[in-house]
Amino acid sequence: MRTTRLTFIAAILVVSAIGGASAQNARDDRYPGATGTIPLVAAGTQGGAPEWTGEPGASGHPLMTAAAIRHAAANFNTCIEHLWPLAARRGISRNVFQTATASLTPDLRIMDLLDNQPEFTKSFWDYLDILVNDARIQKGREVLEKYRAIFDAVEKAYGVDRYIVTAIWGVETNYGAIGGKRPVVRSTATLACVGRRQNYFREEFLSTLEILQRGDVHPDRLVGSWAGAFGPTQFMPTAFKRFAVDFDRDGRRDVVDSVPDLIASTANNLKKDGWVAGQTWGYEVVIPATLNFMLADNHRSMPIRDWERHGLTRPGGKPFPRPDDRAFLLVPAGVQGPGFLMLTNFRAIMKYNPAEAYALAIGHLADRLRGGEPFAQEWPRYERVLSRNERLELQQLLVRHGYDVGEPDGRLGAKTRSAIRGFQAKIGQVPDGFASAVVLDRLRSR
Ligand code: CA
Repeated sequence: MRTTRLTFIAAILVVSAIGGASAQNARDDRYPGATGTIPLVAAGTQGGAPEWTGEPGASGHPLMTAAAIRHAAANFNTCIEHLWPLAARRGISRNVFQTATASLTPDLRIMDLLDNQPEFTKSFWDYLDILVNDARIQKGREVLEKYRAIFDAVEKAYGVDRYIVTAIWGVETNYGAIGGKRPVVRSTATLACVGRRQNYFREEFLSTLEILQRGDVHPDRLVGSWAGAFGPTQFMPTAFKRFAVDFDRDGRRDVVDSVPDLIASTANNLKKDGWVAGQTWGYEVVIPATLNFMLADNHRSMPIRDWERHGLTRPGGKPFPRPDDRAFLLVPAGVQGPGFLMLTNFRAIMKYNPAEAYALAIGHLADRLRGGEPFAQEWPRYERVLSRNERLELQQLLVRHGYDVGEPDGRLGAKTRSAIRGFQAKIGQVPDGFASAVVLDRLRSR
C-alpha cells in the first residue's frame, strides 16, 4: 500500500447551461487506495461558503460523530499549539508558526466533504466525456504552444512527455481555471485536529508550514481544495515537499505562479513515480469474445506480444510499436466496452491520481493533445450505472459469498472487479468484472 501521496479526488460537476457539462475538479480527495472511483461533492457548494451541516459523517467513524467534531473544534487552538514542538523540530520559526495559526479557526465544512458519500451515478464514460473534450483539447494545445520552450527544457531534464504533464494540468484544474480557494493552512490544520484522518493530515499541515517557512509559495496563493491540494496540478503539501523543484532558479519552488516550476515539478513527480521516458501509457485494444477475462487483472502483466497471441489487437489493426513491453489489461466496462493494455507509465499516472477513470482521462487527453484519435470503440452507454447504495450492497454481497473486496465502501476498483470476475465465472457468465445491474441481481438471488 502506498504511503506517499494522499490522493482523494472529488470532482464537483457542474452542468453548464450552455455547452454541456464541465468538470469542476475541486481536486480534493487524494488518498491511498482509492482506486477506481470518484466520490463526488454535490454541486452547488461554490459561491458563498456553506457551513458545516452539523451532521455526523457518513463513515460512522467515532471521530466523525457530531459531538466528536464539536469537541475537537472546541479544542482546536490547543491542538494546534500542541503541534508547535513538531513544527519547531522541522525548523519552523515561532514567528512563521504564529503568523500562520494565530487567528486560525477550523473550517468544519470540510467534515462534510471528508465523509461525503453522495449518490454518484456517473459512469466511466461520463468522466471521460467531461474531462476529454474539444474545449479541453483546444486549451491544452494553446498551453503547449505558449510554453513550448519550457516544455522543451523540462522534457530534456526529466524525460517526461510534455503531453502527459499538460493533460494532468488539464484534468486536475482545467489548466488552472478551477483549483479551489480554501487556504491550505486552514484546511490541513482543520483535518489535523478534527475528524478521522488527523494522523495523516498532521503531516500535511506541518509540510504546509514548511512551505511558508521557506517562502516557496506566497501565503495568499497557497489555496486549494478542501484536502489541501494546491496549484494548477494540485500538489498536496507532502507531495510538494518530495517533488517540487525550482526550475527557474529564483530560489523558490513555486508550483502555483511559476510555470517553469509547475511544469518541472509535475514532471519530476511522474519521474519519481516511475515514468519511463520514451514510452506511452497504454493502448486501446479490441478484445476477442473468446478471451479469458480472468486475465484482465492489474496484477497480471505480460509482454504485449503474448497479449497478441491471446487475440488482442489495436483498433484498425495498427501494430504495437513495442511488443516486448509488459502490460496489464484493463476492461473498465466489461465485454461490451473497450479494453486497454496498460504499460508501466499508466501505473505512474495512477500514483498521481489513483482513480482509474481519471488516470485514463489523463492518458487519453495526452494522446489527443498529441494529435491522436478518440477511442474507436463505443462504451456500453445503455448500461445502468449502479447507485452508491447498490454498489455498496454489491460489495457486501460479494463478501458474504466469500470474495475479497477490501473494505466495502461503494468504490469499485480493481479488487471489486476481481471479486466480480470470480463470481461471474462461478455462475457461468463471462467474467468481465463489470458491475452491472445483472450481476447485482444474481448476487441478490443467491
Ligand atoms: Ca522558482
